[in-house]
Amino acid sequence: MKFRERLARFFYGRYGSDQLNMFILIICTLLLLLAMFLPAVPAYILRGFAILLMGLSIFRMLSKKIEKRRRENAVYTKILYAVKSFFIRQFNRIRYIKKYRYRKCPGCKNHLRLPYKKGEHDVKCPRCGKNFTVKL
Ligand SMILES: [Zn+2]
Repeated sequence: MKFRERLARFFYGRYGSDQLNMFILIICTLLLLLAMFLPAVPAYILRGFAILLMGLSIFRMLSKKIEKRRRENAVYTKILYAVKSFFIRQFNRIRYIKKYRYRKCPGCKNHLRLPYKKGEHDVKCPRCGKNFTVKL
C-alpha cells in the first residue's frame, strides 16, 4: 500500500482538530515560551505540563469517539462565548455610560440596557415579561 493511502486510512473516522484543540495548543506554546525565561525547576514543570497538553491534543485529534469530542468542544465554545460576552458587556458599560445603564432582570437574569434618565422607572423585561422598578 502506498504511503498516502495508508495515511488516509489511518485518519479515516478520526476526530481531527477543533477550536478546543487550537486553544490547548496555544496554551501549550505559551507555556513553552514562558519556560524559556524561568530557572531550571519551574521550567521543567512547565515543559512537563506542556507535553501533557500536547499529548491531550494529539489524543483528541486521533480519537474515534467523535460525538464525545464534539461535546467537549461544545462546552468549550459555550464557556468562551460567556467570557467574551462578559467582557463586551463591561466594555459597553463604560463606553455608553452617558446614554445607558445596564441592569439584570430579577425574573430571568437577562441583561437589560436601559436609557439613562435619573429617577425611578417601571421596566418590563422583553424576555420574560416581568414588571419591576429600577432606580437610576
Ligand atoms: Zn426577564
